[in-house]
Amino acid sequence: MSLTKKIFIGMALGIVVGLILNVALPDFFEPVNSYFLVPLGKLFVNLIKMLVVPIVIVSLILGTAGISDPKKLGRIGAKTITFFLGTTVVALILAIVMGSLVKPGKGDFKLDGASFEGAEAPPVIETLLNIIPANPLGSMVNGEMLQVIAFSIIIGFGLAKLGPKTEGILKIVEQANDVLMYLVTAIMKVAPYGAFALIATAIGGQGFEAITAMGKYMFVVLFVLLLQLVLVYGSTVSVLGKMNLLTFIKGFSPAIIVAFSTSSSSATLPVSMKAAQNNLGVSKSISGFVQPLGATINMDGTAIMQGVATLFIAQVYGIDLSLGQLLTVILTATLASIGTAGVPGVGLIMLSMVLTSVGLPVEAIALVLGVDRLLDMCRTAINITGDAACAVYVSRSEGETQDDIEITGEAKA
Ligand code: ASP
Repeated sequence: MSLTKKIFIGMALGIVVGLILNVALPDFFEPVNSYFLVPLGKLFVNLIKMLVVPIVIVSLILGTAGISDPKKLGRIGAKTITFFLGTTVVALILAIVMGSLVKPGKGDFKLDGASFEGAEAPPVIETLLNIIPANPLGSMVNGEMLQVIAFSIIIGFGLAKLGPKTEGILKIVEQANDVLMYLVTAIMKVAPYGAFALIATAIGGQGFEAITAMGKYMFVVLFVLLLQLVLVYGSTVSVLGKMNLLTFIKGFSPAIIVAFSTSSSSATLPVSMKAAQNNLGVSKSISGFVQPLGATINMDGTAIMQGVATLFIAQVYGIDLSLGQLLTVILTATLASIGTAGVPGVGLIMLSMVLTSVGLPVEAIALVLGVDRLLDMCRTAINITGDAACAVYVSRSEGETQDDIEITGEAKA
């Protein structure tokens, strides 16, 4: 049986067990969750998280060094960033249009007075200025991804410039990459169990009540996520990447499932890169450059949730947002997407920045809090799928597709 199938079965069992615990055996949920499900899920997540910083460093150094021509590096960088920003803006436009048409917050929705501690979102300028780390080791220790990315790209650039003089270091980095990729495959063997535990915890803790109360809002977010997948990524991979959308999804499915189970783009990165390289024919240097960057700065799914949530909250409060305010939402949510860390729940914290930018109360986040865990799973899957679509497009446009790999869409990662 293929790994993807096994993970699917793990997820399905997780849903069943989560529902049983939630509906029939609520008293058992707490002990089963804290002594069995949470530790099992954490074990899996920690195993992959352990590899994230080393993989980002190694793959970006190799990715950058592999593109030795500075002109080519600039071109690939420009394509990647343009794609990331463009797709995020489109995602927000879709979210705003659907949110305005369906109006999930109009009607008999009641404010239940729940309160939310609004966390302070970091100012955008500061985020951008701090990208160059004064203390690169400190950034690695603290998992500050933008800084680690900048440092790795700079080192890769140096290696490319020095060429044969530093080929020893390059060789070591290549070997480190082999070790890390091998470990990803090994760790993925426990993914079915990890997925089972993570999903059972999420479903068991949420229950139906939150879902029915928030049904319309959830529906709009999920529908726009689907639109983004089919319209935006579908046209990217088929027109620019010359690949069928279903082949793309099938080949990338191991990563989609892990993103769904972990709600973390960053933790999924090792699996996403492997799937893109092995199943979608993306060259190693392009994948190594585009995907770590995307997992950190490109979050279309998160932007969609923020767009819909902002409209939803404005509707609940009976506020009509002007065109200028809607443009502000697009701008701030795009910037928020760059600043959002690829870990569970951060999108919700960054929502406070978007709400503040149009004068909506931050406490209103409490309105969407109840179902955020479930939406986080879905938007994270979209977040990393956008990065992979970009990798397929850039790889194809640079003529770097690994054509020797048969792109069957068979999930081997
Ligand atoms: N969990 C998301 C991710 O890792 C970020 C978020 O929207 O909270 O991509």
